[in-house]
Formats: sequence, C-alpha cells, structure tokens
Amino acid sequence: MSNVRRIFVKRLGAVVAAAAATVATVSPARAFSTRNPGRDAKDPRYVGQEGKRWGMVIDLSKCIGCQACTAACKAENTIPDRVFRTWVPEYELGRYPRVRKAFLPQLCNHCEKPSCVSVCPTGATFARKDGVVVVDSKICWGCGYCLNACPYDKRYFNPLTQVADKCTYCAHRIDEGLLPACVESCVGGARIFGDLNDPKSEVSRLVSSAPSAVLNPASGTRPQTYYRNLAGELQAQPPGPPILDDLARKRDGLPAAEWTTKA
Ligand code: SF4
Ligand code: SF4
Repeated sequence: MSNVRRIFVKRLGAVVAAAAATVATVSPARAFSTRNPGRDAKDPRYVGQEGKRWGMVIDLSKCIGCQACTAACKAENTIPDRVFRTWVPEYELGRYPRVRKAFLPQLCNHCEKPSCVSVCPTGATFARKDGVVVVDSKICWGCGYCLNACPYDKRYFNPLTQVADKCTYCAHRIDEGLLPACVESCVGGARIFGDLNDPKSEVSRLVSSAPSAVLNPASGTRPQTYYRNLAGELQAQPPGPPILDDLARKRDGLPAAEWTTKA
C-alpha cells in the first residue's frame, strides 16, 4: 500500500467516526448524496459538453517511455511531488533470451460505470454529461472511499488540497477546445483524444477499425481509455510505479535503478 493510501486509510477511521454520528440521525438513503451544487446549478464546468463522450486511445506501439506526458501533466495541473495523474511504468515481458521492455501509459479511465462515483457519500465525485469523471474539491471531505473503490488505483490524496484527486482529461483545456496536456505533449503521437460519439473522429475510427482493449475489463467499469497493441500479459498488470530518476529514487529511499552507472 502506498504512503498516500496509508494516509487515507488513517484519515478514513477519523472521518467514518465523525460521519457515523451524523448518519445515526438521518436515514441511510440521505447519507449518500447524488447532489452537487455546481452541477445542480448547471455550471458548464460541471455539466460538461452535452452530446460528447470524450475518450482516449493509446497506441502502445508508438510509446517510447519518454515521460513527456507525465511532466506535462504535472506542470499543467500543479501536481505535488510523489503523486501523479498520469505516468508511464515500464515492464519486462517474456523470458530470456526473448525479453522485451514495454511501456504502459496510465491515467484515470473515465469509466462509463465508475465505481468511484457510486461510493462517494458527498456527491463530490461525479461524471459530467460528456463522460469526464471529476472531483469537486470544495465538497470532497477526504474520506477516501473512492480511492479504495477504483479498481485501477488511479486516484490519490492531494496533500495541497487535502482531498481526493485524479486525472480530469484536462477538462479545463478541453472545454476551451484544446487537447489534454498529455496528448499535446506526446512525443510519439501515442495518445489520441476525441469524441467517441462522433463516428468520424479519430478515436472512434481507431476503436472500431482495429482491435482495441481496455485494462482489466473484468472490473466491469467500462473504461473509456482504450489501448492498441496491448499485449495480453500487460492487460491485467497492477498499475506499477512511475519511473523515477535516480535523484528522486534516492529522495524516496528506493534503491538506485539497476542501470545506474556508478561514479
Ligand atoms: S479509473 Fe477509477 S477513478 Fe477513473 S473513473 Fe474509473 S473507477 Fe473512477
Ligand atoms: S474522498 Fe472520494 S468518496 Fe470521499 S467525499 Fe471525496 S470524492 Fe467522495
């Protein structure tokens, strides 16, 4: 369990104790809220773009593991140290002498049936009408239910805002007609973003014209982030840690990477 998740589990005990006192005085149906003031007031940032269904296709044959997307996301969204909205772990596949390295870019899948949404007691996490799953940091109380409910481990506790956080497909950018920062910065052109409701969009064409897959389909959450050239061995891999450079590994108390050249 990561440090971030440990913090959440510790916080969870305190929050549950506080919530229990409240829940005891209201009916169970009212304890879990589907309301969200921003969305209910029809704030466009909360409602999203009606008629669209945003999705992403990641072509693994084009990913070179450079982490440009990881860095661009960090800069665009002011992500604190040691947590990530997107990252690219690497895996070693096969057995000697037939071994190869594989990169697997990861981010929130913006699932069509998101388990993180159904467990949220406050209505802070919800899906916009265009399918983008977001967290309202103003009403999230940091209980951590959603962190534990996500089968993809794609949420984290943000130490700056003290609430749950995750990828938003850069909603603030796509609402202005821009691409998510990770897509814009992808050196290999591996990340393709667009409207899955538009049969002429590149994402629709890619999803319908060639075999595409999602991570861990058995989760039943129906991810809207698809992969091309996803090796079977990778499909059910645990998320894997981000690749850290040697200075970051030293800072985090991890052993030096095996390819480190000794001075
Ligand atoms: S990947 Fe996890 S956090 Fe993202 S929508 Fe799906 S269940 Fe929620
Ligand atoms: S931590 Fe997650 S489940 Fe808890 S209130 Fe915030 S968004 Fe909802």
